[in-house]
Amino acid sequence: MTCKDCGKAIGYAEHKTSMDLLGVELCSRHTGLIQQIIQDNQTPVEAIQLFYGLKDAGAHPMLEWWDGQKSVDIALSRVKLNIEIDTEFDRLTHQRALADLDDAMQSFRKGFTTLRIPSIAVKYYLKKTVENILEIAEGLKANIKVI
Ligand SMILES: [Zn+2]
Repeated sequence: MTCKDCGKAIGYAEHKTSMDLLGVELCSRHTGLIQQIIQDNQTPVEAIQLFYGLKDAGAHPMLEWWDGQKSVDIALSRVKLNIEIDTEFDRLTHQRALADLDDAMQSFRKGFTTLRIPSIAVKYYLKKTVENILEIAEGLKANIKVI
């Protein structure tokens, strides 16, 4: 068993703690660092799982990236793709829905594409979610080249 972040070999206890808390195999140092990020930003645990899923697939995601106005759950800055994990979407209010759309529009004006992903997609279909994001990122890369 190895830490998905630093590649350090980890024991059973470290493995169990990180899997129970985050659902990602991490050493105790990285479990602590990630927990701090979660505490500071209310980052959903699915964002952590998606972050490491994207890393595993060879992408270069950034966790809790500051876009100048707000912190984005995950950013693929090379293609200007912001990813927000939606939790409690079953209790989405119309005000929140409009604010999210407005947010996406504001980011778009700055050249960023915003992708909102329901946390259940990550929870149940991590691999497929990662594949789709990578394909979107490829498409964005192609568009950037054309411009
Ligand atoms: Zn580590």
